[in-house]
Amino acid sequence: MQATTTLSARSLHYLELEERYGAHNYHPIPVVLDRGQGVFVWDVDGRRYYDCLSGYSAVNQGHCHPRIVAALQQQAARLTLTSRAFHSDLLGEYTRFVTNYFGYDKVLPMNTGVEAVETALKLCRRWAYEVKGVPENKAVILVCSGNFHGRTTTVISFSTDPESNRDFGPYTPGFTIIPYNDTAALARALKDPNVAGFLVEPIQGEAGVIVPDEGYLRQAKELCAAAGVLFLADEIQTGLGRTGRLLACDHESVRPDILILGKALSGGMLPVSAVLADDPIMLTIRPGEHGSTYGGNPLACKVAIVALEVLEEEGLAANAGVLGELFRKEVTALRSPYIAAVRGKGLLNAIVINHPHADAAWELCLALKENGLLAKPTHGDKIRLAPPLVITREQLLECVDIVKTSMAVLENH
Ligand code: PLP
Repeated sequence: MQATTTLSARSLHYLELEERYGAHNYHPIPVVLDRGQGVFVWDVDGRRYYDCLSGYSAVNQGHCHPRIVAALQQQAARLTLTSRAFHSDLLGEYTRFVTNYFGYDKVLPMNTGVEAVETALKLCRRWAYEVKGVPENKAVILVCSGNFHGRTTTVISFSTDPESNRDFGPYTPGFTIIPYNDTAALARALKDPNVAGFLVEPIQGEAGVIVPDEGYLRQAKELCAAAGVLFLADEIQTGLGRTGRLLACDHESVRPDILILGKALSGGMLPVSAVLADDPIMLTIRPGEHGSTYGGNPLACKVAIVALEVLEEEGLAANAGVLGELFRKEVTALRSPYIAAVRGKGLLNAIVINHPHADAAWELCLALKENGLLAKPTHGDKIRLAPPLVITREQLLECVDIVKTSMAVLENH
């Protein structure tokens, strides 16, 4: 049975507009949304869905969280942008708040996730030349196969996914790719005295929620420290409560030398990202050497403060931890022959589909949509399920029921 997607004339109208006037750089599930609240989104025909993607983990606090919306509205009516040519009353307040929150000396505010990654890479290289004493232009940053850190020319230069980097060369040099979850490979690579840093996702989200072995992050951090190499954690997707702790690195008591945040830092309101580090690293970048027009704007500062307050006050990390375990237990208990694995941490999970047809995960996502749940396949056979962290136990069990019902589509596919 083929999952039939029922699309109204209204939905089709919006799909056609995008197709005709927008670049074809995405392949969305055919649903047109115009409203969101908490764990739910509604399409233009008023149908309600569980949002199990959460804007790729940007909406941890739930859609249109009333406190974050109020902060956004108040600040939007007061002052939104000064650029960094001038000071604002909120940048200082935000920098103090966010550095206390995560326990670092300094923060460098940016907008999108990939900009924060770029910032971290520049900071790491600068530190290597000024502090570590790496010869000019020789700094190497270690990265992992299967990584996803964004879409800029430099960042795709060290991607191992041909979809990300095919025909976008020439590529930025200075990166060495090592296998993920392999401390022996890391130890070997660290023998190069020009290694400045090791950039890693604590869980590889885009690759299909690849959770490394317990102890990997701790050992990797120890190896880096012993080699005089910075440990850079990209917590853009794994951070801010998503995996059951404030940061995924917290599961192993690892404190990154450079911490990269984005996505849920604004609760899905606007692009807000940040790089945190201590003074000996952060102060190697001086006035005029890096920045962004919108980075640290008052609107972003206000929204980020409230978004972080909501995470803490509503205990969202703890909720993610408890309900994530329940989710994996319940999906495993379905004992479906079409589920090869269910894995993840907290509410960052993936179901790996076992089916002879390559498009089975896509078909299942269409069926999920028909049954009121939105999710999207990643890398063919994996479906990431990452609802907003405000989800309740009852809602989560309803999501599992929807998965169960929808699996029927795979029987005759
Ligand atoms: N790093 C990780 C781990 C991500 O998951 C993403 C986005 O999915 C990025 C970086 C890039 O963030 P953005 O799309 O905001 O540039």
